[in-house]
Amino acid sequence: MRTSPHPTPEAAPAFNFGAGGWRCEEVPLADLAARYGTPLYCYSRARLLSNYRRLAKAFPAPARICYSVKANPNLSILRELAAAGAGFDVVSEGELWRVLRAGGAASRTVFAGVGKTRSALEAAIDAGLFMLNVESLGELGQILDLAGGVPSGHDALPVALRVNPDVDPGTHRYITTGKRENKFGLERDSFRTALDMLRGARGVHLAGIHAHIGSQVGTTTPYAEAVERLLALVAEAREAGFAPEWVNAGGGFALSYDGTEVPSPAAYAAAILPPLAEAGLKLVLEIGRAIAGDAGALVTRVLYVKEHADRTVWITDAGMNDLLRPSLYGAWHRIWPAHLPESSGAGEISALKPVDVAGPICESSDYFALGRPLPPVHAGDCLAVFDTGAYGMSMASQYNSHPRPAEVLVDGCEVRLIRRRETLEDLVRGEEV
Ligand SMILES: *Cc1c(COP(=O)(O)O)cnc(C)c1O
Repeated sequence: MRTSPHPTPEAAPAFNFGAGGWRCEEVPLADLAARYGTPLYCYSRARLLSNYRRLAKAFPAPARICYSVKANPNLSILRELAAAGAGFDVVSEGELWRVLRAGGAASRTVFAGVGKTRSALEAAIDAGLFMLNVESLGELGQILDLAGGVPSGHDALPVALRVNPDVDPGTHRYITTGKRENKFGLERDSFRTALDMLRGARGVHLAGIHAHIGSQVGTTTPYAEAVERLLALVAEAREAGFAPEWVNAGGGFALSYDGTEVPSPAAYAAAILPPLAEAGLKLVLEIGRAIAGDAGALVTRVLYVKEHADRTVWITDAGMNDLLRPSLYGAWHRIWPAHLPESSGAGEISALKPVDVAGPICESSDYFALGRPLPPVHAGDCLAVFDTGAYGMSMASQYNSHPRPAEVLVDGCEVRLIRRRETLEDLVRGEEV
């Protein structure tokens, strides 16, 4: 039996080839497709939780792992992680609402986001967050305004100043967030102004300094650099009379989509934890992709096999509306027919032919793979698009009026429908004639 695509030591295998073809834990993907239809997102509960636990082990308390809700905000996913002890990282009022709805604790939730509305800030102050990450002077002004009105006796609102450390994480430019030209966080001068604004402010206290340098950061050096810059700012804050206890180093731990090696949680920890411990600071992390990414696969059916003069095109029932990453970032996802073992012998590889795997959407960027060597399939066969547990369903839309896919959570041989497939009626919900 072949195990998970890129087996990670200690991590539970999510997808394996066995009886019935590719399976999520014990359940064949073909069975899931037959029962729930396609396109379908399926997630391995064991993998989700073991990803979280590996991180929690590498970053033991007092460090806190906050799961980045935007990676996969399904209520059942949030509930599983809350039960495992995770905190949460939210970027909107809607995400905060989801966390509370799923039974997550506000006291373990951090709130980032460059454009928080007044209503979101009110909800955040009301909820009693672990920390509110401030991204601009304008936002800080609003917060001081709102928190100043909170009756005394209420605990002061813990805020973290999100700074732009100007570190190059060496990732795709669309998922780079901590370079000077990005829109996120406070620049150095604004940081000083923010300290001035916080001095003597009512209802608010400076609990930490925050930076998030980007996503899919495949080396540890950018974190070491970012932490060094954050420590300089902590020193500045301390000189100014503040006593921040926390450094929030953001998220971005990488997932190996194509089998290249990425740092283990322990390797990231070795770069981040020692300098913080030395400075007497506690760490917060906001991790999305590395928790949910390889726990999920998108199952899609081949509708048509088109033989063009120079290449073969498979048209699948899932498209960029269901999984945007390839179209948006040129992201590479491993794709394989759900009924075939992945070939390793040379004889079998010669049967592979370059294929474009494309969706049904009326856009030329609607593809999952171009010129990918794949074994022949027939119309009606299912494909698995692996490592789509993060930034898959959370970015799905109804573009071209396709109802969004169903989601299932697999636990051993058991399957739970955690989001029903949308219906045509769902397409017009809220519309009026
Ligand atoms: C998206 C985001 C994260 C999570 O990034 P991952 O790459 O999924 O770990 C963390 N912090 C902030 C502020 C974010 O916007």
